[in-house]
Amino acid sequence: MRSEEQEPILLLTSYSLLLTSHLSLLIFPLTIFLLTARCLQLTAFPGFLLPLPSVLALLCLSATVVLAQQPPPATAGAPDTSDFRRLLLSTPNDFRTGSGAPGLRYWQQRADYVIRASLDTVSRSVRGTERITYSNNSPDTLRYLWLQLDQNLFTRESRGAAIFDRGARFGTAGAEGGVRLAKVAEPAQSAGGKATARALPLKYLVNGTMMRIDLARPLPPRSKQLLDIEWSFPFGPNSNRMGMEEIDGGVIYETAQWYPRLAVYDDVRGWNTEQYYGQGEFYLEYGNFDVRLTVPANMIVAASGVLRNPLEVLTAGQRRRLARARTSDSTVIIRGKAEIADPSSRPPAPHGTLTWHFVADSVRDFAWAAARHFIWDAVGVNRGKTLAMSFYPPSADSIWNQASQYAKTAIENYSQQWTPYPYPAASNVNGIEGGMEYPMIVFCHNRTDPQALYSVTDHEFGHAWFPMLVGSNERLYGWMDEGFNSFMNHYNFPKKFPGAPLPTARGVPETYLRNALSGTEQPIMTPADRMKTTENWRQGLYNKPALGLVLLREHITSPERFDPVFREYIRRWANKHPTPADFFRTMEDGLGEDLSWFWRSWFYTTEQLDQAVDSVVFSDSAGIASRVYLRNAGGMPMPLELSLAMDDGTTQSLSLPVEIWFAGATYTALIPGPKRVRSVTIDPKGWYPDVRRENNHWPAGATSSSKAVRSEK
Ligand SMILES: [Zn+2]
Repeated sequence: MRSEEQEPILLLTSYSLLLTSHLSLLIFPLTIFLLTARCLQLTAFPGFLLPLPSVLALLCLSATVVLAQQPPPATAGAPDTSDFRRLLLSTPNDFRTGSGAPGLRYWQQRADYVIRASLDTVSRSVRGTERITYSNNSPDTLRYLWLQLDQNLFTRESRGAAIFDRGARFGTAGAEGGVRLAKVAEPAQSAGGKATARALPLKYLVNGTMMRIDLARPLPPRSKQLLDIEWSFPFGPNSNRMGMEEIDGGVIYETAQWYPRLAVYDDVRGWNTEQYYGQGEFYLEYGNFDVRLTVPANMIVAASGVLRNPLEVLTAGQRRRLARARTSDSTVIIRGKAEIADPSSRPPAPHGTLTWHFVADSVRDFAWAAARHFIWDAVGVNRGKTLAMSFYPPSADSIWNQASQYAKTAIENYSQQWTPYPYPAASNVNGIEGGMEYPMIVFCHNRTDPQALYSVTDHEFGHAWFPMLVGSNERLYGWMDEGFNSFMNHYNFPKKFPGAPLPTARGVPETYLRNALSGTEQPIMTPADRMKTTENWRQGLYNKPALGLVLLREHITSPERFDPVFREYIRRWANKHPTPADFFRTMEDGLGEDLSWFWRSWFYTTEQLDQAVDSVVFSDSAGIASRVYLRNAGGMPMPLELSLAMDDGTTQSLSLPVEIWFAGATYTALIPGPKRVRSVTIDPKGWYPDVRRENNHWPAGATSSSKAVRSEK
């Protein structure tokens, strides 16, 4: 997907053919005349501004070539190294088209889960059984399946423990966790429901956080495989996107990456078997979940999906309040702070446990949380289509009593701007995890600052669109998850807190510039686990892709052009598995632009933007009063904004397209008279992340109001 090859430059080739074909002598002068006319026409055209000496040189060269009747110049077959050569992506096919849409024969595997699990609060562990129905929609016969055992990260020997410090956010060393497998089998039942002779234990091999299960029989296309798996794991002392928190005299369990789940088999790579190291996130198949969770009866459970048995696990009062919340714009308390210590706030449970039954359709994962001392409130979102809920311990009450409203604001804004939130529930749990997203449920930690709590809530629910709805491979392309989301956050946060500074990494130039200038920057395309520093991870996955999309939306194109195309990308790839190429192609297709130069420099490299004005020369030839000599000093192509102060005291603005760099790294802007240019400023409004602003002015040191910050939206 990252390979790039040169394409012949058609224009040069056709000229060469013209010049070297067997033309009679009579035609030569005509050719010269035509070329001359063309050059003159081009120089006269205000948008195309070759300096006169270059034109003359070109004319001489043309004439020489024609008269000598030489073979095509060697450059015709030389590699195209222009910044504007096509970015060569994977060859389009029936699965993924050249326009960036899923092809006619696009296919995707499916995994449906029926899970029964219980939480043991004495041993602090989870035990579960699951039946997976795996649908092979690929054209291939599969002889083995790969599953993910992410809990195996929490062992001393795990690869993740070796590469992330114990003290770092994604460090897990010292945690004696890991998955214990009790059973891996094919049940005594076919996928069609028919009873078969007997259950078959299946051979499996665990490789770190991955497990290969060898099938008893090959699985042909258009058929299903049933799997029965039994497993358990302990909650360790360390957390990573899940874990335990002791607070207010109770324990909050946040449970994620907790069941053996299918790896993705796709048309691009076959099995995606990247290890879970702890920093890179996930790539998962879509399916339906039917999950029964057995917990101590005094606990409240929050989970992905919709609760199917409220009669069994809630009181009559709680059920009434929940029904009211769905259509309410103000937050409704389902179980209040004062009720936590009241035994009648839980229904009777003769066996000491209760089983909560949730279903979640068309999702790629399932997570849940439980605590005996949750305050629980809820509010209707999108006119009752979705129920937003918050679950938090008593000491978080003073801040978290706004959390459901924050969820409502965030989700309704995103629904309006991009595409409606597609799920019936949206739960936010306050526990040990700082901020993490799962389908219909997020974990957020902040308990001290309303703005920070809104920011993390806004961010985690933004993930409902990326990667929950648009299911890319986060482990390889974290920016398609965090970057797209941070881009959406860039516009959403100020709607709630206008005038407040944007939270870090939401598409802001300052930290990007600092990291770029540090010399340690890595390209956006680098997988999360290979980022050398936390700042590289933050910039490469979150901030730089978000900033790039802000530039593309606001300055390289426009919101009117960009927004419908970004929506189209979501529509095309909802509940599917897009690659970076599918995104790039969809954007080019809908915007009507070849953005090879932009994708290449911004996403694949660490090239920097440094636009410079070298000098201004005055002349009156052809009505031109001032020639402004500009240079692309940094390597990254970008459109160029100019502010010109004229000698009569007026100011002119000039927006030059990125195509000014077609011919190379220098460009001369011709400014017609009679006014003369007195001073020049590049990018006066600070739209673009120019790494060196000192050379943006002529004469050097000329006063300017520009700074390396874009105006706040
Ligand atoms: Zn995120």
